[in-house]
Amino acid sequence: MADFDTPELKEYLSIPAIEPGAMEGLAPFVAKPPHQEPLGYPGELVDNWEEKAIEKMGDMLKKYRGFQVFLDSCVKCGACTDKCHYFLGTSDPKNMPVARQDLLRSVYRRYFTFAGKFFPKLVGARDMTREVLDEWYSYFHQCSQCRRCSVFCPYGIDTAEISMAAREIMDSIGQGQKYCNEIITKVFSIGNNLGLPEPALRDTLEDLEEEIYEDTGVRVRLPLDEKGADILLITPSADFFAEPHIDGLMGYAKVFHEAGVSWTISSYASEAANFGMFIGSYENSQRIAMRVREAALDLGVKRIVHGECGHAWRVAYSFWNTYAGPWDFLDPNYPVPQHICEFTWDLIQQGKLKFDKSENDHRVVTFHDSCNVARATRMGDKPGGQFEIPRNVIKAVCNNYVEMDPDTIKDATFCCGGGGGLLTDDLMEIRVKGAMPRMQALHDVVEEQGVTNMAAICAICKSQFSKVLPYYKMPMDMIVSVHQLVSDALILTGQNDGDEASGEQDS
Ligand code: SF4
Ligand code: SF4
Repeated sequence: MADFDTPELKEYLSIPAIEPGAMEGLAPFVAKPPHQEPLGYPGELVDNWEEKAIEKMGDMLKKYRGFQVFLDSCVKCGACTDKCHYFLGTSDPKNMPVARQDLLRSVYRRYFTFAGKFFPKLVGARDMTREVLDEWYSYFHQCSQCRRCSVFCPYGIDTAEISMAAREIMDSIGQGQKYCNEIITKVFSIGNNLGLPEPALRDTLEDLEEEIYEDTGVRVRLPLDEKGADILLITPSADFFAEPHIDGLMGYAKVFHEAGVSWTISSYASEAANFGMFIGSYENSQRIAMRVREAALDLGVKRIVHGECGHAWRVAYSFWNTYAGPWDFLDPNYPVPQHICEFTWDLIQQGKLKFDKSENDHRVVTFHDSCNVARATRMGDKPGGQFEIPRNVIKAVCNNYVEMDPDTIKDATFCCGGGGGLLTDDLMEIRVKGAMPRMQALHDVVEEQGVTNMAAICAICKSQFSKVLPYYKMPMDMIVSVHQLVSDALILTGQNDGDEASGEQDS
C-alpha cells in the first residue's frame, strides 16, 4: 500500500525520541508556469532568486507587523516543541514548531538584524542558499497551518503565519506548490477547486433532488443561479462530489426546505474554499473572496450561509470584511456570513425542525474540531460557540454521543493531517504520519466507548480521514458530515414512512 511505515497507535500519546532528518527531502510537486502565472507569480525560479527572496521578505516585514514580531519574540522556551502533530508523528526535530520557525528566522536574522549581519554564527544566522530554499520548500509544506502550537506559546507566536509567509516568498520567486496553485487557477477559470463546470454542477444537483425524492417522497430543491433567492449558499465544491460531503449537502437542502426559505447556489462562486490563504497570498485570497461578493450582488440575495468547510469559514468569518466588504447590501438582521450549523441550531431552538433521533441509533458519534474553526473563528454570539453549536446540533439528532480525550479537542484539537494545502497524494507520507495523534484519540474511544463514527464540519478533514483511516485499520466511512446526521434524522413535512415514494409534495 505505501513505501513508509504507519505509526503504531499506543495506549497513550507519547513524545518520541528525535530522529534528525527523518522527513528530509519530502516535498510536494513544484508548480509549472500554467499554474504560477495566472496567480501573478513567475513561471519558474527566477535567475536572481536569492536577492528577490530577501527583497520580498523585506517588503513583508514592512507590511505585516505581526510577521516581524513573531520573528523577534521567540525566547526558545520549548513549550511548543511537542505540540505539533507532524513532530509527534514523524520524530523529525525540524517539525517542532520552533525549529520550523527558525528555518526562516535564521535568514531574517542574517539580512535584517545587526547581529546577524556582523556576527552571523553567534546568532545562528544563515545566508539564503539553494540548500535553505530546499529545506523551506520541504518543511513549510510539512506544516498544515493548524495553529495548535500558538495556543501553547506564551507569546502567541503563530507558526502558521510564518509558514504562510515562507510560501508567499517562494511563490514570488517562482517556486510555488503545484497542488494549491493549480486549484486556485481552476477557481479563477471555472469557479471551483474541482473544475466542475456549470452544466455538470446543474446535473449533479438535479440527481441529488431525485435521490432525496426517492428516499422521502418529498420534492426538496437544490437550486442553482436563481436570482432573487433570499440566501446564497457558499459551500466547498467537495460537497457536490465527494463522500461523505455530499450527504451533508443534502442535509443543508433539507434544512432550508423545512425552514421554508428560498436559497440558491452560484455557479460563478461555486467554491467556499480559499487556497489563497494557504499560500499566504492576500491578493489571491482577495480575488477568490471577491467572487462571492460579485455572485451575491448579481443574484440579489439578502443573506449568505456558509457550508461545512474549516479554513473557508476562517476566511469568511475573519477576512471577508477586509477582502470584499462592506456587506451593507445584505440584511443586517442576520450575521454575515452565517454558518450552516448556526442556521440549523437556530431552527432547532425555535422548535422548527422535527427529528427521529433513533435513525442514528446505529451510531455512537464523536466530534472532531477542525483547526481553523476551533482556533481562528467563532459561531453564535458567545465565546466558545464554535465548539458548542456543532455539538448541540449533533446531540439534537443523535442519542449516542461521546467526547475524545479533552487534551485533543476544542482549542487543543489535533489537525487531521491534511490541512493547509497538504491534501495531495505527493504528501501522503506526512499526511498519514501527521494524522497519528487524532487517530490515537479516536482509536481510544472506539475501544473504550464503542464509537462508530466521527463527525466533522470541514471538507478537508472529511477527505483526509477517508484516506488515512484505513492506514490505522479503521473503516473510511467512519467519517461523516454533521449535516449527514441531521439529514438522516430530519423528518420532512409530508415525508413517507416506507421505502417507496408515496407521491409528490411540492416545496
Ligand atoms: S501550525 Fe500546526 S502544523 Fe504548523 S508547526 Fe504549528 S502545530 Fe505544526
Ligand atoms: S513556545 Fe513560543 S517562545 Fe517558546 S519556543 Fe515555541 S515559539 Fe518560541
